[in-house]
Amino acid sequence: MIHAVQRPQAHTETHCLPEQYAEMYRRSIETPDAFWLEQAQRLDWFKAPAQGGEWSYDPVGISWFEDGTLNLCHNAVDRHLATNANRTALIFEPDDPAASGRSLTYGELHREVLRMANALKAMGVKKGDRVTIYMPMIVEGVTAMLACARLGAVHSVVFGGFSPEALASRIEDCDSRFVVTADEGLRGGKRVPLKANVDAALAEPDHDTPIDGMLVVRHTGAEISMTEGRDYWLDDLATDADCPCEEMAAEDPLFILYTSGSTGKPKGVLHTTGGYGVWTAATFHYIFDYQPGEVFWCTADIGWVTGHSYIVYGPLINGATEVVFEGVPSFPDHGRFWDVVDKHKVNILYTAPTAIRALMREGDDYVTTRSRASLRLLGSVGEPINPEAWRWYFDVVGEGRCPIIDTWWQTETGGCMITTLPGAHDMKPGSAGLPFFGIRPQLVDNEGGVLDGAAEGNLCITHSWPGQARTVYGDHDRFVQTYFSTYAGKYFTGDGCKRDKDGYYWITGRVDDVINVSGHRMGTAEVESALVLHPKVAESAVVGYPHDLKGQGIYCYVTLNAGEAGSPELLAELRAWVRKEIGPIATPDLIQFTDGLPKTRSGKIMRRILRKIAENEFGSLGDTSTLADPSLVERLIEGRQNR
Ligand code: ATP
Ligand code: MG
Repeated sequence: MIHAVQRPQAHTETHCLPEQYAEMYRRSIETPDAFWLEQAQRLDWFKAPAQGGEWSYDPVGISWFEDGTLNLCHNAVDRHLATNANRTALIFEPDDPAASGRSLTYGELHREVLRMANALKAMGVKKGDRVTIYMPMIVEGVTAMLACARLGAVHSVVFGGFSPEALASRIEDCDSRFVVTADEGLRGGKRVPLKANVDAALAEPDHDTPIDGMLVVRHTGAEISMTEGRDYWLDDLATDADCPCEEMAAEDPLFILYTSGSTGKPKGVLHTTGGYGVWTAATFHYIFDYQPGEVFWCTADIGWVTGHSYIVYGPLINGATEVVFEGVPSFPDHGRFWDVVDKHKVNILYTAPTAIRALMREGDDYVTTRSRASLRLLGSVGEPINPEAWRWYFDVVGEGRCPIIDTWWQTETGGCMITTLPGAHDMKPGSAGLPFFGIRPQLVDNEGGVLDGAAEGNLCITHSWPGQARTVYGDHDRFVQTYFSTYAGKYFTGDGCKRDKDGYYWITGRVDDVINVSGHRMGTAEVESALVLHPKVAESAVVGYPHDLKGQGIYCYVTLNAGEAGSPELLAELRAWVRKEIGPIATPDLIQFTDGLPKTRSGKIMRRILRKIAENEFGSLGDTSTLADPSLVERLIEGRQNR
C-alpha cells in the first residue's frame, strides 16, 4: 500500500504554521472556554457571550455560548455591506454551460435575501417555524436558507433528487408547514419536476401535515399547477423592503438536516445557532486557508451538510467569493469540473471521493486538456479516499502542487473534525490527519477499553465542541441511544479508525462494516483500496458474509474502468492482487463484477445492502429510500455469487 508522506506547499500568507497549530491545539484542549470565546469573536453578536461550553454526555445535554444572542444571516450577509458590498459573493454556474450564469455581489445577495425573507413572511413564516426547502442548486436555494435564518425559522433542506415519498416523510417528521421549491430543476441536461414532486408528496396517502404555504421559484419556466391560497410565486410576494434580522439566542435551533441514510433510517439532526456559526466560521478559515480575492468551490449540494457548512454558512460568514454549481461532473462531458475551474479561476476545490473515482475512471485526458492553473488547494469529504484516488487527485488534477485536505466529519459534527491543515502538516494519502482545535478523538475497543498510541478501534470523541448537534429532532432518546449509549460518557461516531505512530487518524469505514476473518479484524476500506489500485478496477465495495471455516468470508463488488470487462482470468488476478497487497488473510473469497454500486444520493456506498445480498438475504434490505438508483439492486441480486 502507499504510505508516502507529501510535503504540502506552504502558502505565503497561510493561516496556520506548524508551531502555531501545536500551540493553538494545546490551548484549545487546556482552556476550551477561553479558546472558543475568542473564536466566537469571528461573529457579530447582538449580545456577546460570556459562557463557553456547558455540557454533559451522561446525561446528555449540550450548550455553547448560551448567554449570547446573534443572527447568522446578519453574519453571512449584512455585516459585509459596510466594507464589501461590491465584492462578489456567489458565482452561479448553470447546468447547461451555454446558458448564461449570474454573479451576485454581497450587496445583491442582501437584496435577494430580503426578497425571499419578505415572501416567507408574507406567507406567515415566523420564528421557530420549520420550513422545508426542496430546491435545485441555484442562488435561491442559498437565499431560502439565509432568509429562514434571518426570520429565525428552522430550515430543513431536502435534496432535490429525493422522491415524493422521501420528501413527504421528512416534511412529516419535523411537522413543517411551509415549503420552498422551484418549478423544475436541471441536472445533467435532465429536468427534475420539483413542484410536481411536492404536490405528489402532499398527496401521499399517509401524509397529514397541513401545508400553510408553498413558495415557488420560477427557474425553467415549465408549466406547473398552482393551488389557490396555498402556492405562491416568489416574484408575486417578494419585496426588497427592509426586514430586520431576528435576535436569536445562541441555542435557538438553526436547522434540521436528515443524515444520508448509509446505515439505516435517516436521523433529523438538529443544529443550533451560536455554536454552529462559530464552528463553520473557524473551520472554514483555518482548514480552507481562504485568502481575500480567491474563488472557493464546494461541489456538494445544499441538501447535504457539506453544502450547509461549506457553501452557505462557512464561506459567507467569512466573506468569501464562491461558485454555486447547478450541474453534475459528467455533463456535458467528464471535463466539466475542470471547465468550471478554468472559467471562474477556482483556487480552492472541495469535492468527494465518489466524484474523484468516477472522473479517474474516464482517463486523464479530460483533465489534462484543461489548464487548472488557478488551483491551489484541493479538498475531499464524504468517504475514506483510497490512496490510489488520492494520488490521482494530487498528481493529475493538482499536478503535484496543491495540498490535499481530507476532511473527516459527519452531519452530527456540524463541520470538519479531523484533517491536516494546509501549510501546517504533512499529508499521508488515505489518512484524514490530525484533530482540529478542541477535538479530542479517542479509540476504544469493543468493551470500551481505551487504546493508547498506535492502535485501531472505534472512534469516539470525549469532549463537546461548539458545532456538535444538540439532538435528533423530536426524538432526544434516539440521539442519546445512537451516539452516547454504546460507550458511556463518550460521543461514538460509528466509524472505525486507526491511529499511527505520528498521531494521524485513518478512518477504516463504518464499525458495522468491519469484517472478522478467522479472528482477524479488517476494515473494508483497506481491501477496497487494494482493489482500486489494480489498473482495471474503477471502484469496489467489500463486505463480509457468513463462512463455515473462517467465520466471515470476504465478498467484493467490483466495477471496472471504461472499456474493461470481467472474466475468470481477471477474477483470479484480483484475488492474487489483494493477497500480494495486504496478505493472504485478505484474499477475497467471492468477487462480483457489477456495472455500479448502490449509493446514497450523496454518493456514499451503502454497504448494508451489499451485505444482505452477499448473505443471500435480499428479502429484507431495510430502508432504501435514499438510494440513488433502485433498479441497480435487482441487477446485483441477479449476479450474486453466494447462492
Ligand atoms: P447515516 O448516519 O444516516 O448512516 P451517513 O453517516 O452516511 O448517514 P453523513 O453524516 O453524511 O451521513 O456522513 C458521515 C460519514 O461519512 C462519517 O461517519 C464517515 O463514515 C464518512 N466520512 C465523511 N468524511 C470522511 C472522510 N474524509 N474520510 C472517511 N470517512 C468519511
Ligand atoms: Mg452517520
